[in-house]
Amino acid sequence: MPSQLSQKHPRGLYILFFAEMWERFSYYGMRAILLLFLLDNISGGMGMNAAEGTAIYGLYTASVYLLSLPGGWLADNIFGQKKAIWYGGIIIMLGHIILAVPAGGFLFFLGLVTVAMGTGLLKPNISSIVGELYPEGGARRDAAFSIFYMGINLGSFFGILIVGYLGQKVSWHMGFGAAAIGMLLGLIVFKYGSARYLVGLGEAPSQRQLKEESVPVSGTNKAIGYGLIAALVIFLIALQISGKLDMTTAQGLAQGAGIIIVAISASYFLYILIAGGLNYVEKRRVFVLIIFYLAAALFWAGYEQAGTSLQIFADRHTERTVAGWEVPSSWFQNFQPFFVLVLAPILASLWIYLSARGKNPTAPVKFAFGLTLLGLSFFVMVAASNIAITGELASPFFLTFTYFLHTVAELCVSPVGLSSYTKLAPRRYVSQLMGIWFVAASLGNLIAGLFAGGFDEKNIMQMPALFNQVAIFTTAFGLLLFVFWKPVKNWMGGIH
Ligand code: GLN
Repeated sequence: MPSQLSQKHPRGLYILFFAEMWERFSYYGMRAILLLFLLDNISGGMGMNAAEGTAIYGLYTASVYLLSLPGGWLADNIFGQKKAIWYGGIIIMLGHIILAVPAGGFLFFLGLVTVAMGTGLLKPNISSIVGELYPEGGARRDAAFSIFYMGINLGSFFGILIVGYLGQKVSWHMGFGAAAIGMLLGLIVFKYGSARYLVGLGEAPSQRQLKEESVPVSGTNKAIGYGLIAALVIFLIALQISGKLDMTTAQGLAQGAGIIIVAISASYFLYILIAGGLNYVEKRRVFVLIIFYLAAALFWAGYEQAGTSLQIFADRHTERTVAGWEVPSSWFQNFQPFFVLVLAPILASLWIYLSARGKNPTAPVKFAFGLTLLGLSFFVMVAASNIAITGELASPFFLTFTYFLHTVAELCVSPVGLSSYTKLAPRRYVSQLMGIWFVAASLGNLIAGLFAGGFDEKNIMQMPALFNQVAIFTTAFGLLLFVFWKPVKNWMGGIH
């Protein structure tokens, strides 16, 4: 990668780099203090219990990624990517401004919903313009995405550092305000930069284009679609009435959202397999995408616990005093972007080195490796929590090492999955399937929130068992993928 990174890239890439850097500054910065704010009952937080706070956190982070489906659609069909990014950024900034008002209650939730809607509009579209800058695809596009991923993590790093510090050491709302300023800077970069360097890209589609590209949905498919929505609504109502699910509570609502996300994904995959007009090879590739979807959802469910169970662990059970100064617990989330910045170039060089010798592991092997590592990292947390339940503080090295493993795993799963989805998807379904890739992240985030509901102050004794569950389940899935990597690779039908 170093040689690819030094190639000349269009200026537009750097505009997108800085715009996304500031957007991620605001997103990850705010997210770093969100759960702490929800749980805090001493210094002006919402005073929720762990089950409620983590369910709201999960719902929020899941909506951010789920809303990228309508966000992508709006850009493709109405605004074009550039306007979608601009409006999305403004909406995100307004959301953070609302959060900065120390009013709590309704206004706080309004702020969250606003940020989630804005992010759904901005996030998928900024990545697609990066792709548009390199219509020829290939190694230059891959290199551009690596640079872009650096921007994402640079933004996260400084966001967590600054917003985390202000939120925990000064005041929560000051932190949220800093996130708004970050987004404002992103908007300024984008406004001035895109007028000069993104001319002709991400424009709104013309009526003619829309007509040419639209694929008419048959009456039968429409009827099946409406039927499925009706069945889902009836199912949810039945669960509510029978008392199996109480969607008037945050946790019940999050579980309901989980059912909806799984139903959307399953119906979509079934739809393209049955009615998508795919040939044999394409169908087998879609099966691989389903396996990668499951693996990704499981991966994010573990990885995104950085903001939930691991954040709680950093806050309550980790030794954080350095030379008499207490390090803000949110700063622990910074290990993920930090390690990405350090490890991404190393891993990219390793893949290039192995490719040159014809030994670059295939995507299913990288996924298997990523999941196994993620699973093993949770055994580290089992050891850490066994110390914590004795009432002692665990050394910060446990979390540091856990995050190190998480990041190596992320670099085996996240970029690999993203590019596999663009390559394996039948061409006419690429954008939709990209959306489904983000839905996997949405599901993972939701589970990461719901799972952490068990991490309440009252029952800390169950921490080791909870981490153990994630460790065993994830490692087992990873190992299973190791066993079956060959058939999965064959189903990819010659694509690497
Ligand atoms: N950390 C990356 C980002 O924020 C990837 C997130 C994801 O795909 N779930 O863009």
